[in-house]
Amino acid sequence: MTTVFVGLGSNLNNPVRQITQACDDIAALAHVTLVKISSLYRSPPMGPQNQPEYVNAVVEIATTLSPETLLLELNAIENRHDRARGAERWSARTLDLDILLYGDKLIKTENLTIPHLGLYERAFVLYPLLEIAPDLQIPGHGPLRELAHTIDAGGLEKIGTFSSFNNNGF
Ligand code: ATP
Ligand code: CA
Ligand code: CA
Repeated sequence: MTTVFVGLGSNLNNPVRQITQACDDIAALAHVTLVKISSLYRSPPMGPQNQPEYVNAVVEIATTLSPETLLLELNAIENRHDRARGAERWSARTLDLDILLYGDKLIKTENLTIPHLGLYERAFVLYPLLEIAPDLQIPGHGPLRELAHTIDAGGLEKIGTFSSFNNNGF
């Protein structure tokens, strides 16, 4: 079993529902155990500004899937959420699932860079991650806590816990 952190993001077609449903979808994957779910956060869009705000979260899972197989499973979940792959980078999407960390592995292949490159600079990744793994060491880098403190959390807003949204059927 390897501890893996996955970042979730959505800004189309009821983002809160996309994120809570995606947590259920991840939990339902074979060979994956969902361990922790961060709160849901609202964040301003990255890249093109003419798109809605995002809802983001981070989950911790334990899995025996390889990084490549896990990426395929996460892509399949994105596709089931009608994720369209437009030409423009960082454009609006129903669901984005990124592998942030895979144990203590450093991976750089055509399809995968782990730790995810956005991890070092994105408040909407760092702060949800810090919430569920405050003592995490980022492989090849150092303490998450120290990194997070160098990144401005301005614009990031906690909007509720997974269970508050899930039970209310948002
Ligand atoms: P960003 O990667 O900057 O967050 P994005 O999530 O919008 O941007 P996508 O279009 O979802 O980018 O993915 C582009 C490619 O990124 C995918 O085809 C995938 O192979 C690759 N990729 C590389 N590393 C990772 C990773 N750690 N997790 C998920 N995808 C990754
Ligand atoms: Ca992404
Ligand atoms: Ca992605």
